[in-house]
Amino acid sequence: MRQQPIVIRGATVVDPAQDINEARDILIEDGKVSALDKPFSIAVEGCQLIKAESLLLFPGLIDLHVHLRTPGHEYKEGLSSGLKSAAAGGFSSVLAMANTSPVIETAEQVASLLKASQSIKGARLYQCAALTKGRLGQELCQYDDLKKAGAVALSDDGSWVADSAVMRRALSYAQVFSLLPLSHSQDPFLAKNGQIREGRISARLGLSGIPSQAEEIAVFRDISLSALTKAPIHLCHISCAASLKIIARAKSEGLKVSCETAPHYLFLTDEKLLTYEANFKMNPPLGSLNDLEALREAILDGTIDAIATDHAPQSILEKETEFDQAAFGVIGLETALPLMLELSEKIKLKLSKLVELMSLNPARLLNIPGGHLKKGSPADLCLVDKDQSYNYDVNQSKSKSHNSPFHGRALKGRVLKTFVGGKIVYDYESNLS
Ligand SMILES: [Zn+2]
Repeated sequence: MRQQPIVIRGATVVDPAQDINEARDILIEDGKVSALDKPFSIAVEGCQLIKAESLLLFPGLIDLHVHLRTPGHEYKEGLSSGLKSAAAGGFSSVLAMANTSPVIETAEQVASLLKASQSIKGARLYQCAALTKGRLGQELCQYDDLKKAGAVALSDDGSWVADSAVMRRALSYAQVFSLLPLSHSQDPFLAKNGQIREGRISARLGLSGIPSQAEEIAVFRDISLSALTKAPIHLCHISCAASLKIIARAKSEGLKVSCETAPHYLFLTDEKLLTYEANFKMNPPLGSLNDLEALREAILDGTIDAIATDHAPQSILEKETEFDQAAFGVIGLETALPLMLELSEKIKLKLSKLVELMSLNPARLLNIPGGHLKKGSPADLCLVDKDQSYNYDVNQSKSKSHNSPFHGRALKGRVLKTFVGGKIVYDYESNLS
């Protein structure tokens, strides 16, 4: 059955790819953006009309770093719960990491996950496959087969490929097949047994620390190999000021380096660990105020290309235990946008820049559709009420897991609707009833 055309009227459209930041009407036909014109200029007869005069309209957000725990740990998250949680956060596409059980390393696995995701009313699934078999850092996977099956990126995320000769080959082959390699840049030997960032707080709590050099050294090695192979590399969840200096220099030299950080590193520091609350325990760990400020600066100056959530669901069992036994990771799909809207006011980050970080740049890095609202492109978008204030209640989350460090926090900015291919996959109001 043909879908009724939709007109979204009068929202402030923020679309940096087209240099648009003003009120527009948008017409969605056959799942695509078919017009983007002045307010009240598109005829609404025969269309579903959505009045959006006071709202923001963004290209659907794209998260290039999530853990959907499927297969193997579906009690923490499933494809359905994860993709619905993403949609509730304004994300129309996510990239799922390969550190599942078993590891995603074959064409058959990639194809079956992508197929399973198609019947889910939620964000689109893009799949990352492993760089090396078993994520053991020794033998490369079959990148050509993985590409044919639909993988768009490669990563041993959760582990760093410590053998530089293996990583050199991985970068070279990934480039041949236009697959983006993502590195979990952290020296595992320096980070071994670490619970939180090494420093004043770890000393005070008597917890073993992960020095910021664990990230800095890995970032430097990864960038050196990108220079050697002339292949691109994407550095995941950057959390340290020292790493940013190396990345900024590499970019100034024209190297093909990109990186992401996550909202928690932009709002929280290791001081939070004084509570021994396991929902502040993640890897890489929270850093110092100096790191937080450097990350905010790097958002503004373009050193950081993307905001990713590193959504990492863990069950209560894995979190409510002795601190040093508690699992790493926090969820983040439904808090990322309100937090980034708050940050945009705090540090005077333009909304167009926010959309670049959360939609346009991830689409470009992964070479996938989306990131803009150009005529003829898939109607992936989100409608946001930037003025709605509320206290975040993680118990309302679509995720199966509730390990958020932001539970109970005041947030401002609510995703009202998320569209994927012209279909509403999340509707805040119908969700209430
Ligand atoms: Zn990682």
